[in-house]
Amino acid sequence: MTHERLRSLSVRVAKCGLVAACLFAASVVLAQAPAEEPAAPAVPVVLFQNVRIFDGKSSSLSAPSHVQVRGNKIEKISAAPVPSDRRAGTVLIDGGGRTLMPGLIDMHWHTMLVRPTPAALLAGDIGHLNLVAGAEATATLMRGFTTVRDLGGPAFGLKRAIDDGTVVGPRIFPSGAIITITSGHGDFRQPFEVPRVLGAPQSRGEQTGAAMIADSPDEVRVRVREQLMLGASQIKLTAGGGVASPHSPLDASTFTEAELRAAVEAAENWGTYVTVHAYTPESIQRAISAGVKCIEHGHLMDEATARLLADKDIWLSTQAFPDQLADAFPPGSSERAKALEVFAGTDRTFALAKKYEIKTAFGTDILFSPSLAPRHGELLAKLVRWYTPAETLVMATGTNAQLLELSGKRNPYPGKLGVVEEGALADLLLVDGNPLENIELIADPGANFVVIMKDGKVYKNALK
Ligand SMILES: [Zn+2]
Repeated sequence: MTHERLRSLSVRVAKCGLVAACLFAASVVLAQAPAEEPAAPAVPVVLFQNVRIFDGKSSSLSAPSHVQVRGNKIEKISAAPVPSDRRAGTVLIDGGGRTLMPGLIDMHWHTMLVRPTPAALLAGDIGHLNLVAGAEATATLMRGFTTVRDLGGPAFGLKRAIDDGTVVGPRIFPSGAIITITSGHGDFRQPFEVPRVLGAPQSRGEQTGAAMIADSPDEVRVRVREQLMLGASQIKLTAGGGVASPHSPLDASTFTEAELRAAVEAAENWGTYVTVHAYTPESIQRAISAGVKCIEHGHLMDEATARLLADKDIWLSTQAFPDQLADAFPPGSSERAKALEVFAGTDRTFALAKKYEIKTAFGTDILFSPSLAPRHGELLAKLVRWYTPAETLVMATGTNAQLLELSGKRNPYPGKLGVVEEGALADLLLVDGNPLENIELIADPGANFVVIMKDGKVYKNALK
């Protein structure tokens, strides 16, 4: 083939291509011509009529009201009837004078660790663990908990599956792996795995992303930054010994102040904060000196420590652990003894929190206990031993949401949570009765939460 002929052939091919493209375009135009402009996807509108509102802030219900949700936000709250937007195909829910309140928030949750045993967590198949956690996430939402702050465990995948609609579950504020020291709370290695050899494969707990071991400020920085890279909205370290871990005495202070400060620096460079697991005055005080913004548990704190929390405006995220939690550990085991020691401090901790008006968040920390999880709401209702029903419910909604805001721009769900007000994200429960008068309603969500909405979407409507 001559050079000329080659050129003319390639021109013809190019022309054919052009013609084909034109024909294709024409056929597309022809096919589309008679059709209407594609309609924009309709934004769903839900109108709650005749409800009395517990707004997540105040101690009494509103007068009968109407609340309109458009998309994922509360658009309008009105004492006068709201005309229904027929164009939007509004879904009407006749509240019949029932209570509309914000979805509940659990500030100390472990999405991945609620149902498995510790052995299953460490030795089980990851696919199975994820599916079990997905089922538990659905159950969590159906108990009315529309948001959880996950304080340790490989929850990033599940969070993503919930957010993209693959799995039904609550909003998750993930911490990723718990960061601990060698022998600290979260180091679940066996004695035969010691000494750790530099460069050797990581322990099983580290491989799964449940907990990471760090023994210097530099190692802490690496581990913190890794969790932030994966999408952590806050960072969780264990500053002292713990109940469920085999090698950490309760009285132990674990990270040094320099190590804690390295974590705080890395988190704050990312616009978020560090919260620490700590029971004792020493571990709490050291964490606060290092810039930690929130203390988990605090059951063994003393008067001076309580005053320090109040003075420095530090959050206390504490729990009224049920005795049943100790049953996860065999009689005579050191874990069981540690559990009982912690439980004995509950009364005093709540008394101190009230006396010093410490900013206090509600969470449950249900771990390795599928039988306890269904009692989620009961654990909240139990707080009336120390607080009024209104104080209890404000804590589990509006107050908890304030602590979530510490995640700043790392908040995965920008918008207002924990309140019923115009413009807030539409996480709502319709309760059959008045929980401010009868907090026990919260303990039986299956019977009493007749509508459960998250992000504007109705997941349960027993009134239909
Ligand atoms: Zn925990």
